[in-house]
Amino acid sequence: MKSRLPTSAIIIGSGISGAAAAYFLARRGVDVQVLEASAPAAAATGAADGAVSVASKRPGPMMEAALCGIRLYRELAGEGLFADLFKARSTFIVASSEQEAEVLHAHADALTSSGVCVDRLSRAETARRFPVLSRSAEMAVEVHDEGHAIGYRIVHRLLTAGGINVRRDEPVRRLLVSAGRAEGVETVKGILKAEAVILAAGSGSAHLLGLRDTLAPRKGQLLVTERAPHLNAAMPGAIMSGRYLLSKGSQKAAAGKPARGIGLVIDPLTTGQFLIGGTREDTDDHRSNDFDAVSRILADAVALVPGLAEVRLLRSFAGVRTAVVDGLPLIGRLPGLDNAYVTTGFEGDGICLGPVAAKAIVELACDEEPSIDLAPFDPARFAGIEVAA
Ligand SMILES: Cc1cc2nc3c(=O)[nH]c(=O)nc-3n(C[C@H](O)[C@H](O)[C@H](O)COP(=O)(O)OP(=O)(O)OC[C@H]3O[C@@H](n4cnc5c(N)ncnc54)[C@H](O)[C@@H]3O)c2cc1C
Repeated sequence: MKSRLPTSAIIIGSGISGAAAAYFLARRGVDVQVLEASAPAAAATGAADGAVSVASKRPGPMMEAALCGIRLYRELAGEGLFADLFKARSTFIVASSEQEAEVLHAHADALTSSGVCVDRLSRAETARRFPVLSRSAEMAVEVHDEGHAIGYRIVHRLLTAGGINVRRDEPVRRLLVSAGRAEGVETVKGILKAEAVILAAGSGSAHLLGLRDTLAPRKGQLLVTERAPHLNAAMPGAIMSGRYLLSKGSQKAAAGKPARGIGLVIDPLTTGQFLIGGTREDTDDHRSNDFDAVSRILADAVALVPGLAEVRLLRSFAGVRTAVVDGLPLIGRLPGLDNAYVTTGFEGDGICLGPVAAKAIVELACDEEPSIDLAPFDPARFAGIEVAA
């Protein structure tokens, strides 16, 4: 395919998706303006765990895209851009009951069928590889070649390396559209024009696309501990409880309360701290943590890694994922517009998928073959898209 480079582009949003799109365009010499309602990484990207992982995926388009996402992190780490930001590690999915072990064996088969490298560890092997785990661990599956990255640090690096200044506190109100093309945008401060427009506004995309019933907020609560270098060093990777596989969606709640699921993931950070998550709740409240969620996450964590009982909790925080009703993100050209694109709706996978999706969108905008198959993520599958124009 022949490349057709736009000379200028507007990017709406400076989470990981917008920052990565800005970086890949700037690297090609495109004049980029990034418009941000608040500040870089102010929304989901700044409140994420950061697993760059396929461990919980099932075979299908999300698995294929996530494998490309991990490859891109490795590539960018190899080039030096993410060298100090991407921590390569395995994920250990741990079964604490026979029922979980059964689910986990089937899941390991599915991962293998997608070309993911996994090892099944018996009870004894699990205890040997992962001595800090509780004796309740029946077995584990080690998922190799995974990693971890902190979203706001990735955003900072992409913006700095791309030489990009973000126009903060400048929300976009609408796209300016004429004769099947986006001419630019109207922000709270005025009108800006460019040859291409990329919408990477996370939950803010719902309003700009008229998709309020298609995009849904899904809150998550996370915890960070103090440094515990010895315990941290004794963990050869992240732990995911087998129950996580059963609880990726939110679950039914008592009357009047939003639905909530808890799936335990414990990530040993390079700082010696632990990042422990998290919940999935059908609400857009990103400002609060509650005692019930924090105490349940901690109880689950200590049940799996008893040594954590001696480690102090430093802080808790919450963020809101942008979920799409059919479980697949929106990545592609906006229907009816030649030069406008969207990349959003990654739910709990945007740290892994954000950079590779942004790279694919930039390739699409340049009339090149995208690095990932975008057909399953085509925004045109939702007839209701109505660009706020
Ligand atoms: C608790 C939690 C845990 C997570 N864990 C993981 C994980 O382990 N692994 C993983 O891969 N992913 C994880 N995620 C998901 C990941 O954080 C998101 O999918 C990803 O950050 C989405 O990035 P984004 O750039 O698309 O959107 P966002 O980060 O939401 O950024 C969108 C930006 O657009 C701006 N904006 C909105 N409206 C407008 C407007 N009108 N004009 C201008 N700007 C606008 C916002 O202010 C924001 O800065 C987690 C998320 C949460 C909340």
